[in-house]
Amino acid sequence: MKAVHSPFGIGPSVSLFTLGTMRAVRSPEQMYEVVKAAYLAGINHIETAPAYGSAENFLGEALKQLDSQRITPDGGWVITSKLLPGISLSKGKKQLKEILSKLGLKKINNLAVHGLNLQEHLNWALNEEGAELLQWAEENNLIEQVGFSSHGKFSLIQKAIESNRFQFCSLHLHLLDQARLPLAKQALNAGMGVMAISPADKGGQLQNPSQTLIEDCFPIAPLELAYRFLLSQGISTLTVGASKAKDLEIAKKLANANSLLNELEISSLNKMQRESSRRLGLYKCGQCSQCIPCPKKVPIPEILRLRNLLIGSQLEVFTKERYRLIGKAGHWWETVDASACENCGDCLPRCPNKLEIPALLKETHQKLSGESKRRLWG
Ligand code: SF4
Ligand code: SF4
Repeated sequence: MKAVHSPFGIGPSVSLFTLGTMRAVRSPEQMYEVVKAAYLAGINHIETAPAYGSAENFLGEALKQLDSQRITPDGGWVITSKLLPGISLSKGKKQLKEILSKLGLKKINNLAVHGLNLQEHLNWALNEEGAELLQWAEENNLIEQVGFSSHGKFSLIQKAIESNRFQFCSLHLHLLDQARLPLAKQALNAGMGVMAISPADKGGQLQNPSQTLIEDCFPIAPLELAYRFLLSQGISTLTVGASKAKDLEIAKKLANANSLLNELEISSLNKMQRESSRRLGLYKCGQCSQCIPCPKKVPIPEILRLRNLLIGSQLEVFTKERYRLIGKAGHWWETVDASACENCGDCLPRCPNKLEIPALLKETHQKLSGESKRRLWG
């Protein structure tokens, strides 16, 4: 059966899953294995970036080898690569030429601004050297369309969508963090393609979930439920960062699964949310963001979201990893942790749930702080 494809901006349509290449950078053989498995799973869309080390070199080799074996999706592969914002026009031109050379292609379908996380990045893409660079790439027929990936604030992503400059975007959209779902809907309504960044790993390490979450979602596996939830919301495509062929089995199983949720899935979802709320009791953060801004710039909703996941779903490994990355990933993640709270009390009257925010922040810091071992990518 032919895999379902979604419209993706003004470029070619894409499979419901996208192969992310950042975890297949150990060797050319590893990249070949995952790209071939992607083909067999009905995937036609591959996402890469110069920031992923050897990924583009290995991908170029794998595509050449697979092409010689006539292993290519109908209509060819759809390739997305990315450039970091802020670079000069001349450096950007050089980098794009290098991307094409490594991939062995004259043109890629999609070029994204990689990490449009700050207002200055948006300025760069819309009005400064980035604008010239993107226009040059389009006019010289090196790319088909322009998009962005962002880990930034809601308002910044909204401005980027409303600029009408971009035809697709890659966002953090997760079953366990639905804050950006309205942005995804806005982008889809504007005719943009929307890609969910790492719904498995960054969505709670759902490839290796807690026993509690497994039981809460039973009889559906948490990862399958997360994928089905996003696809049922109309998200164009979901990234899977595979390091081996087996990682793509679930993408193969769900290659056509973008229908509305069925009764079993809805009841599994409801049970998961009910159980999490029961464990959190009166201390559940409703994620309304009314408590911010904090004078000490503590990202209260984000920290209490981690607390929700720790207490509500027992996602200890994931929440520790995310918390310990605070302040260590530049503009890719939060920069201030809960220890910056000075107990001034400003946030307290703004919380509709009447949460003891400083006490909850302190408790979260005690439970989650420690040394970080995780890298940003990979
Ligand atoms: S009590 Fe802490 S978190 Fe709340 S506004 Fe004051 S410093 Fe920020
Ligand atoms: S106002 Fe209260 S419920 Fe809303 S995000 Fe802040 S802490 Fe959570």
